[in-house]
Formats: sequence, C-alpha cells, structure tokens
Amino acid sequence: MRRILPVGMNPAAYTRALNAFAGVVGKPWLFNTDEDRETYLDIYAPGDEERHAPSAAVAPATTEEIQALLRIANEFKLPLWPISRGKNMGYGGAAPVMAGAVVLDLSRMTRILDVDPKLGYCELEPGVGFFQLHEYLTANKIPLWLSIPGNAWGSVIGNALERGFAASPYGEHSSNLCGLEVVLPTGDLVRTGMGAMKGAKAGPLFKFGFGPSWDQLFVQSNFGVVTRAGVWLMPEPEATATLSMGLPNPEDLGWAIDVLTPLRLNRTIEQSVGIASYMGTATVSSQRSEWYDGPGAMPDSVVQAILKKYDIGWWNFSVRLYGGEGAVAANRRTVEDAFAKHTRREFRASTWTKGQPSTPRGGAPSPGVFPLQVVNWHGGRGGHIGFSPAMPADGKLVMEQFARTRKRYAEFGQDYSATFYQNTRHVTNVNLIIYNRDDEGQTGRVRGLFDALVGDAHANGYGEYRTHISYMDKVAATFDFNGHALGRLNEKLKDALDPNGVLAPGKSGIWGSARRPRPPAKGRGK
Ligand code: ADP
Repeated sequence: MRRILPVGMNPAAYTRALNAFAGVVGKPWLFNTDEDRETYLDIYAPGDEERHAPSAAVAPATTEEIQALLRIANEFKLPLWPISRGKNMGYGGAAPVMAGAVVLDLSRMTRILDVDPKLGYCELEPGVGFFQLHEYLTANKIPLWLSIPGNAWGSVIGNALERGFAASPYGEHSSNLCGLEVVLPTGDLVRTGMGAMKGAKAGPLFKFGFGPSWDQLFVQSNFGVVTRAGVWLMPEPEATATLSMGLPNPEDLGWAIDVLTPLRLNRTIEQSVGIASYMGTATVSSQRSEWYDGPGAMPDSVVQAILKKYDIGWWNFSVRLYGGEGAVAANRRTVEDAFAKHTRREFRASTWTKGQPSTPRGGAPSPGVFPLQVVNWHGGRGGHIGFSPAMPADGKLVMEQFARTRKRYAEFGQDYSATFYQNTRHVTNVNLIIYNRDDEGQTGRVRGLFDALVGDAHANGYGEYRTHISYMDKVAATFDFNGHALGRLNEKLKDALDPNGVLAPGKSGIWGSARRPRPPAKGRGK
C-alpha cells in the first residue's frame, strides 16, 4: 500500500523523525516497507482501509525507549498509535484512527514481572499475551485462573485497556487493572495509585491510591502509553458447575434476562451470562452457502433447519457457578428453580472439582482463537464489526432492542447475529455483523446498518461501550448532554497532557486542538 503521511506533515521532517526513531530502537525495529504497512492494516475493515492506514511502525523494547520515541514524536509533531499486540479484531485491529500515524508496537515487551499466588495478582508488560500468561501459570503450577476473551490472540493489558470482557467472575477486564506505569504523551513517566511512591509495596493491591484515581483515565483514552500494569487474577475455586440451555423462541430472551438479573445482583451468578442467537453456533460450524444462497436475511424455514441440525435453541446460554462444593450445589439449585418457573427444559450440567483435568466444561480456562471462524460465514476475505450498546438489564427493554435491531438487519439484508450479555445492572448487546470484505455491495450495506444502529441506540438513550476506529467520532457525538460537555472535558485534558496531539489522535473521538480535523471552509468542498 502506498504511504500516506499524516495531514500537514512535511515529508523531509517525516524522514528525519523516522531516522531518529531508528536511532532509538535500532533499524530492524522500524517497519517501513509497503509490506510492513500492510501488516498493520485493519484486516477486518468494512471497506475504505486507506482511511486508517499507518505510514510505518516502530517497536521499542523498554519504557525508556518509549519515552525517547515520544520526545521525538513531539519534536517532529508526528503522531504515534500505541498497540499492545494489535489484535483488536472488529474494532480496528492494529490500525490507527488517523491515516499516517506511526504504530507504536509494544509486542516485544513481554516480561511477566511478578505473579503472587497468595494475593492473586500479576504485573505485566503490555506485550504479554493470554497464551503466554496461561503457559506461565500452567508450567509453574500457579493456582490462579485467567479471564480470557473469545479471541485470545491479543494481550492481557491491551484487552483490558479496551474494556474487553469475558464470562468469568473476573470478566470485566478493565476492573482488574490495579496500578499502572504510564509514559505520558510528552515523555514523562508516572506510576498511579499506591504505586506512585518510591519503594511502593501496595501498588497492585489497592485500586485508588491517594487523591484522584487515574487508572481508568488511561482506559479507552489517548492520555498515555501503558508500559506496565498490575492485573488481578482469580484464585482457583474448589469446584464449578456449568449449566447450559437452549431456548426455542425469539421471545424467550426477555424472561431469561429477567430471571438472570436478580441472580446476578445477589451474586448467586458471579459472571457475565451471554445469551447468543443461533448464529453463534451456525457461523463457527458452517458457511451460509450450505444453508441458503438467496439475497437478504435468511428466511425462518432456514433458521429452523439450523436449529434442528445442531439441536440448539434460537437463543443459547451457559451459566457457570464457582466456589466450595456445597455453595456450588446450593447455587445450582437456586438457578435451576428460577428457570423451572418459566420452562420445562432442563439444563445440561457438568461439574468440575479441584484436581480434575481442565476441559471446556470446567477447570482453568484456556486460550483459543476458534471464534474467529465466524468470519468465514459469507466466504471471501471475511470480516466482522461489533456494534455494542450498553442498556438496562430489563427484559422488556431488551426485547424492544432485539426487535428494533433485528428489523434493521433485515432492512439492510444481513443475517441477524447478536448476543445479549447479562452484566449485572446492564446488558451489553454485542451485534456481531459479519461480511465478505470482497463484496463491496455488502460492506456498503453493513456501513449503512451500523449508522442506523448508532442512531437508533442514541434515540433510545443507549451508547456503545466500545467501537471501531471508523466510528469513534460518531459514537462520541452521541454523548451529548449539556452540549457535549463530556467531550469538552476530554479535549481539555488532552490539550493539557498532549499539547502537540502526538498520541493516538482521534481515539474514542478525542483529538485535541492540535489535530481535530476541521470541516471544509464555507463555499469550498462538498
Ligand atoms: P490486544 O493486545 O488485545 O491485541 P490491542 O493491542 O489491539 O489489543 O489494543 C487495543 C487498543 O487499546 C489499541 O488500539 C489502543 O488504542 C489501546 N492500547 C493498547 N495497548 C496500549 C498501551 N500499552 N497503552 C495505551 N493504549 C493502548
């Protein structure tokens, strides 16, 4: 792909900046060929990938190198886009919001600095992946469990910084962060919370420190580069029970959410419960052409054939319970009784106790990438994008959201595919919109669908919890209380911390005055 420089960048200054970068990291760690650039593109982009094409990438090995790179970036006003492992699939992968930004690739920083089995935490560098940490815990027989997202290819820290989540008691990943080390956009180095003291002993143990608490300000923002983080891990429980059920009708979603909500609020169930449409099974097990090759969304007769073949429900979910054997057995009865009031179906159950081997039905979770298979649904170069608003955990509102979005999928000729995650007080409705990137007609329709979903959610008072790089401005604009006061606050902070706007301009819709794209002057342009 041809090189695109950041808007306003002088080519000679750009070359000098890259040479200075190479001086810091060594030439082999500056990635500057056409092929290099391709590897950092969004491999799931729903069209228009040049809009987010990086101009190069640089991979430091230490915090000091990152500080030096940021000082150079400021000197030449060249934007950097930090990634940990760059596997943010469905949200932009490794690609920056702003075309021409240089990717700051931290995947060489893979040190596991500390693991404390007694207090249940570790300290990591940003390049540590789920696979690496899992292998470390297993090899060293450390009885701590990871909370792992469906696609485990990425890093523990990058996933937490994007508010990734998983079905486990520690599944709200940004909440597991405790004590960060951060290089600020000007190159200064800070440690947050209790770790902000020389010789600190409680950095990864107490989340808030003294005074304002900063950890969450570095999540989904562009206020700093996280170079190390304390991450809490779950101690191995005595036992688990896994209860799975398929619900036959689309209408079953509403009551199922209303049954789960009190069980989550009173902590009978301690993990997110994802209620997934049948497409969750169909897309990992088959291709669309095996079922239907007509235009538009699949008709109901085809849907029924899919349910029959896989012996699944329209909606499918699993609940996993954790604790001492007695507590798990008691909680299992509570869950079974609560569902028995609404359905004659029984849970498929499996149990695990300490000492037994780990399998997908119980024991320590292990990382995998199997769910990426979904992108093969349409054939061609597959991709997906996630539209994921957070909404109240209320069955009636959930049913309305389902009906509204399903209608939109049909309007834009897409097969409905979504999961409703019961996340205690809110439900996160992850719409996994799947497409063939080689089918321009389809990617165009997907973009239309996405715009419609953003508008519908906004009209109903719901915002996305996370979004793709192409939609960050659009989603940020939906947070419009008091004339976008939150956006103004974010921009004020950005200007104070990053006066040259060199760190991840545009991330979460935050640009800073130095970089905010200006609308074309009146009378010019379209
Ligand atoms: P993963 O490691 O899970 O593949 P990514 O590296 O793709 O995740 O990171 C997801 C997003 O989080 C990035 O696009 C970036 O905005 C942000 N991010 C990742 N790592 C860092 C970091 N170390 N410091 C600051 N922001 C980061």
